[in-house]
Amino acid sequence: MSHSAHPAGPSHGHPLPGGEPVVAPPDLTVLNRRIWSANVDRAADGELTVAGLPAGQLAAEHGTPVFVLDSADLRQRARDYVAAFAGGDVFYAGKAFLCTAVARLLAEEGLGIDVCTAGELAIALRAGVDPQRLALHGNNKSVDELRQALAAGAGRIVLDSHLEIERLAELAARLGVRPRVLVRVTVGVEAHTHAFIATAHEDQKFGFSLASGQAAAAVARVLDHPELQLVGLHSHIGSQIFDTGGFEVAAHRVVGLLARIRDSHGIELPEIDLGGGQGIAYVDGDDPQPPARVAARLREIVERECGLAGLAVPRLAVEPGRAIIGPSMLTLYEVGTVKPVELDGGLVRHYVSVDGGMSDNIRTALYDAGYTVVLANRTSEAPPQLSRVVGKHCESGDIVVRDCWLPADVAPGDLLAVAATGAYCYAMASNYNRIPRPPVVAVVDGESEVLLRRETLEQLMANDVGWAVAPAGPEPAPVPGRAG
Ligand SMILES: *Cc1c(COP(=O)(O)O)cnc(C)c1O
Repeated sequence: MSHSAHPAGPSHGHPLPGGEPVVAPPDLTVLNRRIWSANVDRAADGELTVAGLPAGQLAAEHGTPVFVLDSADLRQRARDYVAAFAGGDVFYAGKAFLCTAVARLLAEEGLGIDVCTAGELAIALRAGVDPQRLALHGNNKSVDELRQALAAGAGRIVLDSHLEIERLAELAARLGVRPRVLVRVTVGVEAHTHAFIATAHEDQKFGFSLASGQAAAAVARVLDHPELQLVGLHSHIGSQIFDTGGFEVAAHRVVGLLARIRDSHGIELPEIDLGGGQGIAYVDGDDPQPPARVAARLREIVERECGLAGLAVPRLAVEPGRAIIGPSMLTLYEVGTVKPVELDGGLVRHYVSVDGGMSDNIRTALYDAGYTVVLANRTSEAPPQLSRVVGKHCESGDIVVRDCWLPADVAPGDLLAVAATGAYCYAMASNYNRIPRPPVVAVVDGESEVLLRRETLEQLMANDVGWAVAPAGPEPAPVPGRAG
């Protein structure tokens, strides 16, 4: 179990990324309210609770690792988004996390759902989401996926290539339907967490580039197909964005194209969808904008640009994924081992190994994402110890929280809670090292309810059918002493 697939990166020699000074936070029991969901708290004895349920009880009932959903928090986030974009549409990006219970809750709150595969479509339909409130995305939707979406009556299909325009037109003609479509425009905005870069062109797989004229050509092509009902333009600039400036540049450019479409085709498209990407707080210092402020800024710029171009203001849609589900879930892990490792300068880092890792949260390994972790089953008087929370997988890159402070006495059997794991953790979970996926448990008013069961070894084995015919090979060596 000791082989590492990747060499240690340059940052591994530093105690903190970028070699920042090592300053421990003063109080490890304090919960940053921006990061943790609304109903996470500490009981009088210091134990972490979710909607009144102690971490220890959740772990005892459901095992670890376990994703814990603060349902009331999720509902409130959904409401805030719908209220902020009243008069427009909020489509939840199902790829962030999708199961029937969450799809149903969000549909109840008035959100539509973005799906991009037959699997996501099937879950949304099984949940009873009104197909009219579904949007189908993706740069490589299969013919079968397009057909299924049309057959289900999906409310919007977002077109991503010339080939797809032809495919969908042909399918629509054959099925005798006229789907509402949007053209996905690549506006040349590269969004990063704290900043964005506006460029002229984009070298990426999604959408039709605006600057090269591809987007205008795609619009013309769609308009040539009476089987397709073009309702608008779509733009998605990235993920985990705090700076509304990127959305503003995108809105400016999309409205510019709306004006050109009016000029060349004499039509005003009624919708623009500015995509998802609204950021959330993972670590201290992350300061996301509330949805009301994001909505106000977007509306302002769309109204201003439309006013300047003499266009009627289109209906505005957004597609938050992370901002809806991300902060509402945490992951509970049990500590298995703790290993002190001496760093340059005599500093010691505790490697705290938990019973999951990159199979339930790949984001740290994949994006160098930051997370907040706390000791969950108790509080401790022990001094803060520079720590790294790692998983149980056979890779040195199997890191859950790269740099954190935990009490120095964290020991096997302790529980750790990692905040804001609702988006792109379960959704990207794998069976690496043949670990069954953890369950997802919802908590409300002190009661827990399993939404997704823990996978079992039987399920993992179910597809493993072995050889139909024993492969030719040397006879197995005779077992000494065995008769026959
Ligand atoms: C991923 C994605 C989203 C959601 O992104 P978040 O960062 O989770 O908000 C929305 N729209 C499209 C088209 C996407 O690909």
